[in-house]
Amino acid sequence: MLSTSFSGVGCAESAAISIQAAAQRFAPGCGVVITSACEIDPACQKVLQETYGDQQCIFPDITKIDMSKQRGFCKRHNRMCELQPGNFGDMPQEFHRGPVCVDYSLMGRQMKERGPSYQCHKSYFENMKKSKNSIVIIENVCEYSEGLIRRELGAHWDLVSVRMDPRNLGLPCCRSRLFVICWKPKEVRWASPFRLECFVSYLLAQVAMTASDYFYKDLPRAKLTPSAESNLNDYKRDTRFQFPDLNQLCGNKRARGESRDNCLPTLTTNSGRIFSQAHGRYLDPEEALSSHCLPVTRKQARDSSSVMLRLGDTSRTAQTRMAGNAMSVPCIGAVIMCAALGLEKIPPK
Ligand SMILES: [Zn+2]
Repeated sequence: MLSTSFSGVGCAESAAISIQAAAQRFAPGCGVVITSACEIDPACQKVLQETYGDQQCIFPDITKIDMSKQRGFCKRHNRMCELQPGNFGDMPQEFHRGPVCVDYSLMGRQMKERGPSYQCHKSYFENMKKSKNSIVIIENVCEYSEGLIRRELGAHWDLVSVRMDPRNLGLPCCRSRLFVICWKPKEVRWASPFRLECFVSYLLAQVAMTASDYFYKDLPRAKLTPSAESNLNDYKRDTRFQFPDLNQLCGNKRARGESRDNCLPTLTTNSGRIFSQAHGRYLDPEEALSSHCLPVTRKQARDSSSVMLRLGDTSRTAQTRMAGNAMSVPCIGAVIMCAALGLEKIPPK
């Protein structure tokens, strides 16, 4: 069972569906049930609602879930819904979450425990301790600390962690993140001979493509505003970047573009103007979403054995924000797969 918080447009869901399709080839009947998402952004809620099927409850506000009754108001079913409906077989319940990173990110406010979003952290860890989940997977920026999770969760949880970037898996985009698998040792145990970092090391691949490969759509060259044109000319003289982010001034210390190994820079919610000098246009928001391996076309959905993101009439600004907040599907997928293979339920005595 998969339940997510800070769900965005459902990167963990998309990964789990791909894994299920692969797993069913050698273990028919093995599957994942997507039970609920928790997401405050209305545009994301709409995409979740259209994409992942009727069973998934959508809780719009994490602070309004009543953990003592294990239920909250569900936007999809328009009523109070159980947090985890029923129990499926003897599978441990998994909860995948990415608590807000803005107070921890190097690009963000860096206020950590003093930051305004820390209360949201507190209530989410409180919720987690009261929940019936045996396994929790947390994704956050690399600056986030395992020590903080240990402190918040307390002695009844074990955890392992790994820092991973899509480039480790051969993808030409940057997004280094910390992934932590937490579990209750009274309910589940690590039963496999491999550790998380070994599992990830089996998947390492060399990057063969470049940022250019994400500009796959056949689109006309962009008409630039005079200020964008002048900024682009500065970047051309500067010659560091073939894919400058025109939202950042070339002369500014935040000037950015592709990484030194020619990969797409880490997308942020403000990355709507990553410009390809060769293509003469900006990265399209759909291309930005698909850089996380979120399928935005039928072909991409077929190739990844997952479901196509139903973007509907979502605005381009909202799509850029979604891409800036999203997880790399292959990275979270690797961690989900490792947890599913590594952990087993302890049989009751
Ligand atoms: Zn519901």
